[in-house]
Order: sequence, then structure tokens, then C-alpha cells
Amino acid sequence: MSKIKIIAFIGLGNMGGPMAVNLAKAGFDVRAFDLSSEAMRLAANGGCIAAISLADAVSVADAVVTMLPAGSHVKAVYGGDDGIFAHAKACALFCDCSTIDVPSARDVASSAAAKGFSMVDSPVSGGVAAAEAGTLAFMVGGSEEDFARAEPVLEPMAKAVIHAGDAGTGQAAKICNNMLLGISMIGTCEAFVLAEKLGLDPQRFFDIASKASGQNWSLTSYCPVPGPVPAAPSNREYAAGFATAMMLKDLRLAQEASHSAGAATPLGAEAQALYAMFDNLGGRELDFSAIIQMLRGDFSR
Ligand code: NAD
Repeated sequence: MSKIKIIAFIGLGNMGGPMAVNLAKAGFDVRAFDLSSEAMRLAANGGCIAAISLADAVSVADAVVTMLPAGSHVKAVYGGDDGIFAHAKACALFCDCSTIDVPSARDVASSAAAKGFSMVDSPVSGGVAAAEAGTLAFMVGGSEEDFARAEPVLEPMAKAVIHAGDAGTGQAAKICNNMLLGISMIGTCEAFVLAEKLGLDPQRFFDIASKASGQNWSLTSYCPVPGPVPAAPSNREYAAGFATAMMLKDLRLAQEASHSAGAATPLGAEAQALYAMFDNLGGRELDFSAIIQMLRGDFSR
């Protein structure tokens, strides 16, 4: 299989835009396409070639990377009459980095395989800052061979590229991880709210819990109260970061997956309900750690 030189990048939003620019900086010839002309302009400023259509981007590419909002977009962009399958070179590699439901990821991967293409689902952990810095974590579902082909494409955007298993397991890893994150953030917030009510200084509680058995990433890397972790969104009025709307999307995907797989995830369901409530109250665009304000009872918009 020849070396990958030309990459089509479809979906140049908050995440995809900087990811495409990092591939261009790494020396790939990146042909970028998005429905938004502003997103295209930014990608071109960052060293990508602005394609005039999806077909124009894809038809010469050795690999195609997609970063789209949801499963319906991914199915349409790959399988539609004028989609990627219709225009890609024989044996092209596809990496779908969007966060989508597992059945859609498996459907698209099996259609790709039936047409002789290589495909991985490769959703990411890390927000816009990690996309810009090229420090995303990729969770990759696909065969060993397809993973080996995808690794050099994903590496310039990554601090880690991890093979999760067969098609769909990248998405499975992503939604399980984010369900755990949503639950752990709410638990961490509840502990701070109770500590405050009991007269315990938040910094002292942080110093103790971060060395005790309550230690977890939401506490030590993303602390929901300002002060203990300077880089956390709590220090900049909860500007996202990882927006509540994104967390809610992932918690909904986790609940859909739980229902169809027959798994019991009562805390995942509760986390979804609490994030839906915070979203309704106006927290949608705030960082997901801002849910502490709702739990404390002092959130207003
Ligand atoms: P976004 O809405 O900023 O970008 C999506 C882009 O896709 C938009 O620019 C849109 O114009 C484009 N698009 C939609 N349909 C298209 C089509 N048919 N052809 C070409 N372009 C099309 O979203 P985002 O924040 O970049 O997120 C993208 C994906 O990454 C989502 O699945 C999201 O869940 C996931 N994700 C986001 C974050 C985050 O912090 N933003 C973190 C991890 C994962």
C-alpha cells in the first residue's frame, strides 16, 4: 500500500479546523472541505487547500478524515449519492473522528469494507485546546491492518493513538469514558458543595481529597472550584473547555447504547438527567464543570 501524502479533511468546525491545520503543518497535502465558507477560509489560512466540493477534496486523496456533528451527518457524507464512497480512490483509508453512536459507526465501516476501503472509527478525547495543540487522545476501532494505516495520519494531531478493538469500539470507548467523566464530575461537585456547607475550606478539601481515595481526574486536573488547578475552566468563569451541550450529547449516546446493549447504568442515566436540567437552565455553552453552580443552587442566567 503506497504512502499517504494527500489527505481530504471534511468538517472544519471547532475541532476539525485546527486538526486539519496540524496535518498540513506535519507536511501532508490537506484538501479541506466544509459547508461553512468561514471555516474554509480559516483552514486555508492555516495551510490547507480549500476544495470546491466534497468530490474535489476526496477524489485525489489517499486518506479522508471526517470530523462531523453526529451519526446522521457521517452516514450522509460517506454514503450519500455524492458522498465519499462515490468519489474516493480505490483502497483509500477513512478515519471518522466524530463522536457518533456505535450502530452508525459499524454500519458505515461495514459499507466501506464491502467497497474495498479501509476504515477506522477514531473519536477523540480533549477539547479545542488539545485539537489546536495536537495533543488529542484517539480511540481507534478497526482491524489491526487498518489501525496500522491510520496511525501515521492521526499521530500529528495526537498525544496518544490507542487501538480499542474492532469497528465501533473506538466509539464505545469514547462514550464509556465520557459517561465516567460526567458521573465523576458531578460526584466531585457534590463533594465540594457539601464541604462548603460543612465549613471546610475548598483549597483544604482539595489538598486532602487529591491525596486520599476521592482522587480523580475531575478533581485534580479539572477542579470545578476556582483556585486549586489554575488551568481549569472554573478560573475563567467556566468558559468551555468541554461544553455542557457536548457532555449532554455524549451522555445521551451512552444511554442509547446502554438500552440497546441491556447494560444497567443508573448513574449514567442520572448524570444525563442532571446535565439536561443544567442545559435547560441556560448552561449549554458553559464548561461542563459549571454544573457545580446548579448543584450549589446559585446558577442563574
Ligand atoms: P462543529 O459544529 O464546530 O463542527 C462541525 C463542522 O461540520 C461544521 O463546521 C459544519 O459546517 C461541518 N459540516 C456539517 N455537515 C457537513 C457536510 N455535509 N459537509 C461538510 N461539512 C459539514 O463541531 P465540533 O465541536 O468541531 O465537533 C465535531 C465532532 O467532534 C462532534 O462529533 C463532537 O461531538 C466531537 N468532539 C467535540 C469536542 C469539543 O470539545 N468541541 C471534543 C471531543 C469530540
